[in-house]
Formats: sequence, C-alpha cells, structure tokens
Amino acid sequence: MNDCIFCKIVKGEVPSKKVFEDELILAFHDINPKAPVHVLVIPKKHISSLIDINNNDKELMGNFLVKASAVAGKLGLNDKGYKIVVNNGNGAGQLVFHLHMHILGGWEGAASGWQI
Ligand code: AMP
Repeated sequence: MNDCIFCKIVKGEVPSKKVFEDELILAFHDINPKAPVHVLVIPKKHISSLIDINNNDKELMGNFLVKASAVAGKLGLNDKGYKIVVNNGNGAGQLVFHLHMHILGGWEGAASGWQI
C-alpha cells in the first residue's frame, strides 16, 4: 500500500535497522523501543491486522510465527524469555495498520509493568 509506513520500509523507501529478512518476512528494531530489546516482525505482504487474515494466509502466518521465534533466538532472548504482542484495531492501540508482532525482551529479572 502506497501510504503504509511499513510497506515503505519493505520497499527500502524508509530506512530501518533490519535484523532479519527473507522473501516473506522482515524484522527491524522499533523506532521508539518500549523494552531493552524491541523488534517488530512483519509479513512483507500488506495485511492490516489479524482481523483481516483468512485461510489463504495460513502458510504465511505459519512462516510469520516461525521466523519471529528465530529472530528472538538470534537476538539472544531465548534464555530469559520474551513477549510477543500483536495489537489489532484502534481499541487495542494499533497505530500502524500493517500486521506486526512486537518482540519485547531483554529485561533484567522479571518484566515488571508488563504482566497481564
Ligand atoms: P502498534 O501500536 O502495535 O501499531 O505499534 C506500531 C509500532 O511501530 C510502534 O511501537 C512504533 O514505535 C513503531 N514504528 C512506527 N514507525 C516506525 C518506523 N519508521 N520504524 C520502526 N518502528 C516504527
């Protein structure tokens, strides 16, 4: 989508600090980190949110989760653990309407303030 900031990152029109890329998935550091490690994982295909996925997206969504796990491991988060957050829709605080997982981790000790 032309006016989507994450599509522009996919196309290289907006810079990002990439941590992983393949033909389907891109991961890059969040510009305004809310945890010591805060990386976003996106499908390159424009999908607004989980509200909009359907059966045709099954394989891509499998890839999305498997690659997010690999990215978290690459970031060194497996030992202490990490959170995955996906905001879907205005009411959940979604600001960028291109599906993304937040990988959040790197805290010392418990992730205080992040318990749900
Ligand atoms: P959400 O509220 O789930 O839609 O989160 C959107 C996230 O995208 C926020 O954490 C922003 O800090 C992040 N963000 C917005 N623009 C950029 C950008 N150009 N590069 C990296 N992260 C961004």
